[in-house]
Amino acid sequence: MPERRPFTWRDRFGDEITCVRCLEVKDSADMDRLLWCRECRLAARGRATRRGWVVGAVGALALALWIYLVIQPSDLVVGGWLATVVAAAWIVGRVAREMFFGWERFQNRRAMEAVPPGSVPPELGDAGPLS
Ligand SMILES: [Zn+2]
Repeated sequence: MPERRPFTWRDRFGDEITCVRCLEVKDSADMDRLLWCRECRLAARGRATRRGWVVGAVGALALALWIYLVIQPSDLVVGGWLATVVAAAWIVGRVAREMFFGWERFQNRRAMEAVPPGSVPPELGDAGPLS
C-alpha cells in the first residue's frame, strides 16, 4: 500500500497559482501561504530593507546627538562611542526592516506589484519582436 502524503495547503490549488501581488501565474512551489510569489516577497523585502536603513540611520543620528549633547564624552574612548552608534544603526535598522516587512505582509495589499498593461515600456510592450 503506497504511503499517503500528508495534506498541505498547496493541495487546495493546482500546480499553477496566480500570485495575489503581481497577478502572474506561477508554479505553486514558488508560492507561500499568502500566495505571494518569490519575486514579490523579494521586492517587499528589498523595500523593507531600504526603509529599515533610513530608520536605522535616523536612530543612530539621534543617539549620536544625545551622546554628544547629554553625555558629553571625553576624547579617550571615541572608538567605543562610535561602535555604539554603529551597533545602534544596525540593530534599529534590522528591527525596523522586520517591522516594515511584517506590516506589508499583514496588510497583504492585492495586485501591488502588478504592472498595468498601459505602463509597459514601448521596447517591451506590443511593439516587441514577436508582434
Ligand atoms: Zn508575484
